[in-house]
Amino acid sequence: MPSTSSFIRLSPFVQPSPYGKKGSKSVAARFATATRKDFKIDEEQPYGEMWMGDHPNGMAHTLDGQSLGSLIESAPEEYLTSAVYKRFNSDPHLPFLFKILSFDKALPLQAHPDRALAKRLMAKEKAATGKNETFVDPNHKPEVAVTISDVFEGFVGFRPIHEIKVFLKVVPELRKLQSDHETVEAFLAAPDDSKDAQSLLKTMFAELLASTHTEIRACSQQLLTHVERDADDAIGDLGRKQGLARVIRKVLSDYPEDVGMFAAVFFMNYVVLHKGEGIAVPANCIHAYLEGDIIECMAWSDNMIACGLGAPEEQNDARVFVDMLRYEASESKKLELKHEKWNKSDNAKTQIFYAPMAEFDLLNTKLDAGEQEVVDKGIDGPAVFVVTQGVVTLCRSDGKEEENLQQGQVVFIKPGTGFKFKAENKAEVWGSFVEG
Ligand SMILES: [Zn+2]
Repeated sequence: MPSTSSFIRLSPFVQPSPYGKKGSKSVAARFATATRKDFKIDEEQPYGEMWMGDHPNGMAHTLDGQSLGSLIESAPEEYLTSAVYKRFNSDPHLPFLFKILSFDKALPLQAHPDRALAKRLMAKEKAATGKNETFVDPNHKPEVAVTISDVFEGFVGFRPIHEIKVFLKVVPELRKLQSDHETVEAFLAAPDDSKDAQSLLKTMFAELLASTHTEIRACSQQLLTHVERDADDAIGDLGRKQGLARVIRKVLSDYPEDVGMFAAVFFMNYVVLHKGEGIAVPANCIHAYLEGDIIECMAWSDNMIACGLGAPEEQNDARVFVDMLRYEASESKKLELKHEKWNKSDNAKTQIFYAPMAEFDLLNTKLDAGEQEVVDKGIDGPAVFVVTQGVVTLCRSDGKEEENLQQGQVVFIKPGTGFKFKAENKAEVWGSFVEG
C-alpha cells in the first residue's frame, strides 16, 4: 500500500559482519538502536554495517513493519518518479544502497563486478548449485565511502607502477613470493606508464595470489621479524613516508599468514582520509578497508568477489578475481570525491558530493544549534537521509508534516517534497539521492 506521508521513517537492517566494531563501540549498532526497539546490542558481538535501503540481502522497513521494497514496488513512479524509474531500467527499487559501516578489522580484499560479469557469475552459480546465494543480482556495484570518524584507513586501487617497483627492490619477502624472475625483471624494466607494465602487473598479482600457505607463512613471519627490528625502515623510503610498519602489523594481527597483507600493502594504494573526505571505488576496482566509520553508498547490488583477508570458506575463485580487476595503477588522489555547495540548498548549509556513477550523489548538511537548511524545491527523485550527529526537526515547507530525528535515525523523503532541517543542537545529516 502506498503511504500518504511525504516522510517515511525507516528501520534499518544490521549486518553482524565479523570485521565490525564490537557492541556499542560500533556506530552501525548504536545508530540502529535509535530506531529499532527490538534490537539489543550484545557487547561481545561485532556489528559491521547498517543498511538503509531495499536490497533483499538487508531490507529496511517502515516503522509499521512494511518492507521498503514492497512499498516502492506498490507505486514505483510515486516513490522514484517516472523519470528515475525509466532511467534505471524500470526496476522497481532504489537505484542505490545507502549504508553506515563501522569496523576495526580489515574487510575482505575485494572487488565488485560490472554488469556483464555479474550476469555471468549468476548464471554459473545457478548452473552449478541450482540457486543464487553468492551472486544475487545482475547489477554492477560501483561504490563510494565518506569518512564520519576522525580517520579512515584503507587500500583502494593498484599503486602507481613506480611504487610497486620500489617495493620489489627493497622488500625481499615480497620478491620471494615471485618465483618467475623473468617476469619481475621485465616489469622492472618496463616504462611505468606502458601497457606492458600493466599486463606484467597482472601476471605478478596472479602469481602472488597463487602462493601456497607455506610460502605465505614463511614470508609473513620473516617480514614481521624484519619490521619488529627495523620498523618503517624495513620497507624503505615509502615505508617511512606512509608509516607502513604499523599497517603491516595491524593487517597481520587481524589475519595472520594471509596473502591479502602482501597484496594490500605492496600492490595497492594505502589511503588515509579524514572526517568529511570520501573516495570512489569503480566496478572491478580492488579495495580493502582497514579501520573507521564511514557512510557507504553504492549502486543497488550485493555482489562481491573476495580473495584474501577473510575466512577460507569466504574466498572466491582467484582466477575470476585476477581477470576482473582493472590494472590502471595510479595515485588514489584521482578517486577522491569532489564536493561543492548544493544548488538546491537555500541556506548554503549543504554540500553535494559527486559520485562518479549515475545511480546517486551524496548530500551533507551541517548545522549549528538553531540553524536551518531549506530545500523548498525538493528533490526530483528518491532520497534517504540519516542524522549522524545531534537532533534535527524535519518539516515540510508547507508545514503539514514534521518529524523529530535523533542521531542514527533514518528517513525516506518522497520526490518533490519541499522540506527543511532545523537543528536543536549542533547537527549533521547525510543523504543519498538521485534525480531523473
Ligand atoms: Zn566494496
